[in-house]
Amino acid sequence: MFSIALISIVLLIRYKPAYKVNIAGEDLGYVNNKEEIESAIDTYINDTQGCVAYINVPERPEYEFKFINNTIETSEEQLLLKVKDDSIITYRMYAIKLNGETKDYVENFEEAENIVASLKDQYSKDIEVDLTIEELYTEEALEVVSIETAKTDIDGVLATKLQEKKAAEAKAKAAKAVSRSYSSRMSGEKVSLGSVTLIKPVNGQITSRFGERSSIRSSAHTGLDIYVPYGTSIKAAAAGTVTCAGYSGSYGNLVIISHGEGVETWYAHCSSINVSVGNTVSQGQGIAAVGSSGNATGPHLHLEVRKDGTILNPQNYVY
Ligand SMILES: [Zn+2]
Repeated sequence: MFSIALISIVLLIRYKPAYKVNIAGEDLGYVNNKEEIESAIDTYINDTQGCVAYINVPERPEYEFKFINNTIETSEEQLLLKVKDDSIITYRMYAIKLNGETKDYVENFEEAENIVASLKDQYSKDIEVDLTIEELYTEEALEVVSIETAKTDIDGVLATKLQEKKAAEAKAKAAKAVSRSYSSRMSGEKVSLGSVTLIKPVNGQITSRFGERSSIRSSAHTGLDIYVPYGTSIKAAAAGTVTCAGYSGSYGNLVIISHGEGVETWYAHCSSINVSVGNTVSQGQGIAAVGSSGNATGPHLHLEVRKDGTILNPQNYVY
């Protein structure tokens, strides 16, 4: 009896009770208290479950009761680390996609829905907003951003897109406006002048053609310039009635003759005018003298031919 008690005391001094632990056959040392470990594992699972989509701890530890030498240290912390390492976590997140391409990942579906709705509200009247939300499950730790970051990112892309669209529209509008004003006022086409035929008002060298652009003019040339010496007589290109015989801005001294059927001829930069408004003139009649009045750098006749308000190329009819 005494010896058994003595042996027990010696045993308890030299040895302590513990659990030998293994996970899936792997020896992981000893723990003092298996209930404490099991409870710590359960707490870990519960706590993690609240944050991610799913956590799986594939193998729980197995325990074997033993008396071990007092000098052997137990290893609860390492065991818990091993359980955490082995656990498989599936994250649920939401990809916000713009034109089918993921812009950002966020954790909360409602927040994702809110920013998509507000961005659509803001932009869809002006540009196409193809924003979708995709729920995904991944074991990969993708970079999740805050909802504010996601909104700023996507807003930036849409704002740029809108700006580009507006710039393109403004450019197209300006181009259209230019081409419209040009085509409505000038035409290089040879439209019929009806029964009206024209003769050369002066004989000289052509120095600027219809439609030409130059540094002294802000727009295309509306007539034909013919160089002739100062004072040369200008003849009416066809019979008609004088409707303008006076100074007119950049045209200088200007004579306009209406020939009927909507056809007019204009004679600009004259040094003097021999006719008055209302005069009837015959074809070849001297109506004015060549000069450089108005916007002209030297003596020449600026001749225009118009039909129903459209400025035509004089060389389709004369010269
Ligand atoms: Zn001219």
